[in-house]
Amino acid sequence: MHTYSNITKAMNIGNPFWEESYQSGLLDISADIADDGQWINTNNHPFINMCSFSYLGLDVHPDIVTSAANSVLKAGALNSAIARLRIHLSLLRDAEHALSNLFSAEAITAASCSAASAAILPLVASGVFTNNAPPVMIFDKMVHLSLSLIKPICADETTVLTSPHNDLNFIEDVCKQNKTVAYVADGVYSTGGCAPVKELLELQNKYGLFLIFDEAHSISAYGKKGRGYVLDIMGEINDRTIIVASLNKGFGASGGVILFKENKYMPILNRFGGPLAWSQQINTAGLGAIIASSKIHQTDELTILQNKLQENINYFDSLLPTENMGDGIALRLIPIKDESKAVEYSKKIYDGGFYTSPLFFPVISRGKAGLRIMIRADIQRADIKRFCDLITQIVE
Ligand SMILES: *Cc1c(COP(=O)(O)O)cnc(C)c1O
Repeated sequence: MHTYSNITKAMNIGNPFWEESYQSGLLDISADIADDGQWINTNNHPFINMCSFSYLGLDVHPDIVTSAANSVLKAGALNSAIARLRIHLSLLRDAEHALSNLFSAEAITAASCSAASAAILPLVASGVFTNNAPPVMIFDKMVHLSLSLIKPICADETTVLTSPHNDLNFIEDVCKQNKTVAYVADGVYSTGGCAPVKELLELQNKYGLFLIFDEAHSISAYGKKGRGYVLDIMGEINDRTIIVASLNKGFGASGGVILFKENKYMPILNRFGGPLAWSQQINTAGLGAIIASSKIHQTDELTILQNKLQENINYFDSLLPTENMGDGIALRLIPIKDESKAVEYSKKIYDGGFYTSPLFFPVISRGKAGLRIMIRADIQRADIKRFCDLITQIVE
């Protein structure tokens, strides 16, 4: 028991902080999006959301929103209530073709990135992608919960290990001792920083290391045509790498996607990929949004938005230096000296017109509490300045 998780313990540690946040009015906020991109809560308090994962602002792009609405009307239904391996709307096929084209890889969608990971990781553990040899699976200690949640299922198929964060020596040692090894990582981590992709690819070359990357934070925001951090370094997908990504963050649509090299795995994924086989698909609004967003990704508009994002990140870094400054990634953690003040700071910042989220153990390591924010392409320079001034005034 409790080899991979302990829910009671996690609740005992995490709940006092959630309760304090709730009592301060920082949780359960009901609000709407105004024309200028700000949010207005139901008490008429306007604020800028500094915690949106929509790095390029595509979530409110008129082409995407319109295509979503029109697709529902054109399909005549929001959902097709049957497993995709039996019958699927041609719209699903069109959306997957658009993704496949964009990322130059085989693409299969899932209802979310979490569902995509739940589909792919047990199959990796089974050995189906590694000549039927179940690999020793290493999960980086900091991988997203949607991945680490699947550890016990994988552990029923093979050996599962947890490595210290970005520890290449640990991974290489396991590769030296075992013929088949798979490593699970986030391309860009929610808590800041990236996977050492270049070095991991070297281990792949040397030992055949199988790699699974969660690119939820980096699709669209980085790389040529928004191919993300990992694919940008790789050049193109290979037969020992699988990427999962959310289409709900930078991509501005809905659902998740699995990217891989070999078309021959498509039937296996459809039939044995857990939620791919037995859960719902992306609905027609989401599929319409994917098609429209894919189109935008093929144009200069994407490059312009990516450049705007980089300008905003650099501007933020120039005003408020943080640990990961200069890495070009949109996630920033503003450190706090006294952990017990995090919610109080966050509340003052919210009153000043910006929503931030305090991060605590166990989401990040003990003693590393801070306010997490994401920089976006669609935040005005003046608002970034106003935000940084507020932080400087309030946070110690
Ligand atoms: C947000 C996030 C997910 C979950 O994405 P969904 O599509 O909402 O399931 C998975 N992995 C990482 C790293 C994330 O940040």
